[in-house]
Amino acid sequence: MNIPFTQKLTNLNIEYKENVPMSEHTSFKIGGNADIFITVKNISELKAVISLCKETETPYMLIGNGSNLLISDSGIRGVVIRLEGEFKEIKVQGDTIVAGAGASLTKLCLDAQKASLTGLEFGYGIPGSVGGAAYMNAGAYGGEMKDVIVSCTHLDPELNVGTLSIDELDLSYRHSAYMKGEYIILFVTLKLKEGDADAIKARMEELMQKRISKQPLEYPSAGSVFKRPEGAFAAALIEECGLKGRSVGKAVVSEKHSGFIINKGGATCQDVLDLVEIIQREVKEKTGFDLYREIIHI
Ligand SMILES: Cc1cc2nc3c(=O)[nH]c(=O)nc-3n(C[C@H](O)[C@H](O)[C@H](O)COP(=O)(O)OP(=O)(O)OC[C@H]3O[C@@H](n4cnc5c(N)ncnc54)[C@H](O)[C@@H]3O)c2cc1C
Repeated sequence: MNIPFTQKLTNLNIEYKENVPMSEHTSFKIGGNADIFITVKNISELKAVISLCKETETPYMLIGNGSNLLISDSGIRGVVIRLEGEFKEIKVQGDTIVAGAGASLTKLCLDAQKASLTGLEFGYGIPGSVGGAAYMNAGAYGGEMKDVIVSCTHLDPELNVGTLSIDELDLSYRHSAYMKGEYIILFVTLKLKEGDADAIKARMEELMQKRISKQPLEYPSAGSVFKRPEGAFAAALIEECGLKGRSVGKAVVSEKHSGFIINKGGATCQDVLDLVEIIQREVKEKTGFDLYREIIHI
């Protein structure tokens, strides 16, 4: 007899939800339903879910905070996994922090500040998870995860726990070694420097104010849509081409920051993809620059 996938999850004592709108789990507020959505609390649950997916040939993917994702209007077939429970813990030991990949990057920055540790101020306000930030090598205002990560502990595709050191992580602009395979980052170890808690707080608040004044945070988005092309800035090129305010459906090039596409309410994934294509074409024609997407389309 063929036991349904969801019954197998129940047998393993794993909680799940069916037909979950991904628009509720992405900062863009875009995306159709995921067949099954599971939050795992520890490594053994994570391994059990992935083993079951492999055994039943059910596709699966991991999301962090969904702040760099553009999810298809038809949703995601198979299982979407999110890390919670022990993956949200942050442990400070001297100048070293071990953070669960499911913890919020902003919470990590706040914990570092409370412990008078400097180096992570740049990350305050990046709305990702620690795992997503390591995966993307997130960065801002002259800092990037590369500067503070010592190593990442992961689950490899064969379900072995392993570690990559900073040299093996191959971190560069919005790139990490994890982009080439089905690895799941579990924990990230960071090394910071002793600093002054008040000065760290002041710098974090200054950077947050910059974000508030420059970015359209009042609308759903996935941050900068395009990577920075060599020798130019995507936002400046888009503005130069007169594309501010250009729209497809409810997807609009932000007037406040032309590197952002905002969802003015009910934008679809297709609206965003069509607008991205218009921007890429017009920027290429008028400036000669190729723009490549930073946001990940699923
Ligand atoms: C308003 C706004 C401002 C932003 N500002 C910045 C900025 O200043 N700098 C910047 O770099 N980015 C910025 N971003 C983009 C985004 O926040 C970052 O890329 C962030 O690192 C994504 O993390 P996430 O947890 O949301 O990942 P998700 O969007 O959920 O996932 C992104 C990718 O990472 C993978 N992933 C996530 N977690 C793991 C894990 N544990 N193991 C393996 N793979 C994983 C996912 O599978 C996916 O492929 C901004 C976004 C918004 C909405």
